[in-house]
Amino acid sequence: MLSSMTVTVLDGKKLSAEIKTELKEEVQRFQQTYQRAPGLVVVRVEGDAASGVYTKAILRIAKELGVEASVEALPAETTTEELRDALLRLNRDPAVHGVIVQMPLPEHLPQRLVAETLAAEKDIDGISLQSAGNLALGFPSLYPSTAAAVVEILERTQTPIEGKRVVILGRSNVVGKPLALMLLQRNATVTICHSRTQNLSEVMRESDILIAAVGRPTMVKAEMVRPGATVIDVGTNARPEGGIVGDVDYASVSEVAGALTPVPGGVGPLTNVMLMKQCIEAAWRQERERARA
Ligand code: NAP
Repeated sequence: MLSSMTVTVLDGKKLSAEIKTELKEEVQRFQQTYQRAPGLVVVRVEGDAASGVYTKAILRIAKELGVEASVEALPAETTTEELRDALLRLNRDPAVHGVIVQMPLPEHLPQRLVAETLAAEKDIDGISLQSAGNLALGFPSLYPSTAAAVVEILERTQTPIEGKRVVILGRSNVVGKPLALMLLQRNATVTICHSRTQNLSEVMRESDILIAAVGRPTMVKAEMVRPGATVIDVGTNARPEGGIVGDVDYASVSEVAGALTPVPGGVGPLTNVMLMKQCIEAAWRQERERARA
């Protein structure tokens, strides 16, 4: 954590380096125990250019940590049956411990198919129906990696959660909704806001922890933030001039917030680290089960 005059900057790059060091050791322990590396497959249906960039980033970090990663590249015209078969094959493959399916899929492929087919124990980005159900019911699970990254930042920086008022802007299935449940599990009092919320600024000003996951550049201004609040900015909005900007107006909010994540360099660097963390956890769990069987 870097401290300035008014605000503590929650440094995602520093946290990510710290976790990566732990994970490298964890992979070595796994390797010594099972004489193999944790195995990860990225399923990518050709078509979306951005998902190609994400795939490369996942392969890079996997390599850095010693996770055995490969890409299952499927042509853009892949049918529903072919995608289902590919997922079922990966579910059965003992060398594969974690599977991530790059979104968005082409329009003819229903996302629900992936949620229904992917085995929960290999679902390292927490998108399956079973993972969502486990999370809703408070059972142990694998979680959507961005939501997990936000929780990790709060916990590693010892930000009190229990009993605190948390306001989350955004109710998507990948960030807002799972995050709300994860924080509820940690005994926060959680409010979820969205595009139909009335008196949004008033609600936001009530929060001890404010999490913005809306996809609207610099929407959160200083007057919406309670002095001293912790503000987590999940937003990654492309700037016309290049680079990215968050959902929080960093310059003004840093004058009132107690702690704040920057963009870039906040939640972003932790997302793929959490994906790897969950893959390594999934690998331990599957190998232990196999040894018991
Ligand atoms: P999303 O699916 O587009 O959801 C956006 C949410 O924000 C929706 O619930 C929407 O409300 C709400 N919203 C939109 N405009 C609003 C407004 N004016 N006031 C209040 N609520 C509003 O987005 P997402 O996938 O959750 O992503 C959110 C942001 O996080 C994006 O910038 C995305 O790029 C970023 N992101 C970052 C990472 C990372 O690794 N750092 C990962 C995932 C996403 P309705 O439901 O009513 O439409």
